[in-house]
Amino acid sequence: MRKNNLIERIDHWAEVSPNAICFKSGEMSHTYAELKEASDKAAQHLIRQFDNRLPVIVYGGLDYDMIVSFIACAKAGHAYIPIDSHTPADRVELITQVADYTAIIAWEDWPVDSQDKPVLSREDMLNLPPSKEELTAENVSGDETFYIIFTSGTTGVPKGVQISHDNLVSYTDWMLSDFGLETGQAFLSQAPYSFDLSVMDVYPSLLTGGQLVPLHKAVINDFKQLFTVLPEMNLNVWVSTPSFADICLMNPLFNGEAMASISHFLFCGEELTHSTASKLTERFPNARIFNTYGPTEATVAVTEIEITPEVLAGNERLPIGRVKSDTTIHIMDENGVPLPEEEVGEIVIVGPSVSKGYFNNEEKTTEAFYVYEGQQAYRTGDAGLFKEDVLYYQGRMDFQVKLHGYRIELEDIDHHLSEVSYVKAATVVPKYHEHKVQQLVAYIVANEHDFEKPYQLSKAIKEELKERVMDYMIPQKYVYVDALPLTQNGKVDRKGLINEVNG
Ligand code: AMP
Repeated sequence: MRKNNLIERIDHWAEVSPNAICFKSGEMSHTYAELKEASDKAAQHLIRQFDNRLPVIVYGGLDYDMIVSFIACAKAGHAYIPIDSHTPADRVELITQVADYTAIIAWEDWPVDSQDKPVLSREDMLNLPPSKEELTAENVSGDETFYIIFTSGTTGVPKGVQISHDNLVSYTDWMLSDFGLETGQAFLSQAPYSFDLSVMDVYPSLLTGGQLVPLHKAVINDFKQLFTVLPEMNLNVWVSTPSFADICLMNPLFNGEAMASISHFLFCGEELTHSTASKLTERFPNARIFNTYGPTEATVAVTEIEITPEVLAGNERLPIGRVKSDTTIHIMDENGVPLPEEEVGEIVIVGPSVSKGYFNNEEKTTEAFYVYEGQQAYRTGDAGLFKEDVLYYQGRMDFQVKLHGYRIELEDIDHHLSEVSYVKAATVVPKYHEHKVQQLVAYIVANEHDFEKPYQLSKAIKEELKERVMDYMIPQKYVYVDALPLTQNGKVDRKGLINEVNG
């Protein structure tokens, strides 16, 4: 038995504490024994149906059944591709075009033509026969891909980041050793499973016999309900983007008295501003706050720092922390040569949690990944510098942005925007506040149209764009111009527009 196999370690909880709760949503809860039984049953079915180790798409929301399916895939030897059910059909279609997969497990109605691929519906999955025999497939292990998460790509086609079993082991070993997490804690599960931040709650929780407590989008969007529900969740470990904490901080009831069980705030995915961290320290004096940094390509996060009063006092812009012990970060110049301390360059991550590359995308893989001194390396496109052994983030070197923690290539929006019927040409730029994107502004050359007012045109553009891109990629502000400004090389002058918007 491979002791370090993640799936065996999760199953182990079904032996030692079968009645411990692994997933709790309102009144409904599931134990580790149920998780093992359900995932064995689903795995058995996958093994019977599919004689290969190709990926399986798993489609749905923040539900227990999705977790069962992820584990079942791993038990049956398949990588899983999580797709959140809020994804527009066009985007789902693009993902299916990139991915070479064997089947779809759809917990909600599958939104596109499945071509010749079998779709296992909710009904199919809920009516599987019990599994009595031993599973005959080997769990996903070693360098085999465990999951594939799709992120925004500059050409408008999403890129699938392949994370292997051992990438995930490297990441979770660090999570379990460096953050003071304990057995049986309740973790906030707020990020969609198709976003790698969710991996920060799912696996640390399941590997420590903890419980996942989902917070659904519908509750988040209803402010009154949100603040009734949050204290009832009895959370210990808060995992979210700083932007979501900002939303919660708008309500004074979000504090350590109302939510006394919270011992940890784990942040990742975007800048943690000084003001967010200071407010949290005031409101939750007994909780520990961690800023972590990393891209999906290096398995969630690779640096961490606890934000103590000393760190707050000593830094106007908070550091992103120290590198996990099995990994090295080099700050490189444009020729790939490491720079000395305190010089700004590109953050290059080298180590065992770095992905093997993008699924079926040789070109983008070669651009971003390479072997450095015998180990897998990833060029992040992030600028940074070290002071002593602490890393400081200095923004992006390209046109990737983060909005509320969601990763967006501006070129991805441009591409889909220019396909909208009212649009001749378009370019999107970010408006910043405290180093964070507050708003996306679209500069548009419009086609002939019959709208009387610009806001009517903007509404029509937004509606069409919604069919093609995720909600968070839809610009909030629209500026209509006769022509887009060009640089001397004849390219759209995005930098000029960024200066104009932020001037
Ligand atoms: P994702 O792949 O969605 O996790 O996005 C990764 C990118 O988010 C990184 O390359 C950074 O640009 C940004 N990012 C992640 N964590 C942080 C952080 N703690 N502070 C600033 N930027 C961050």
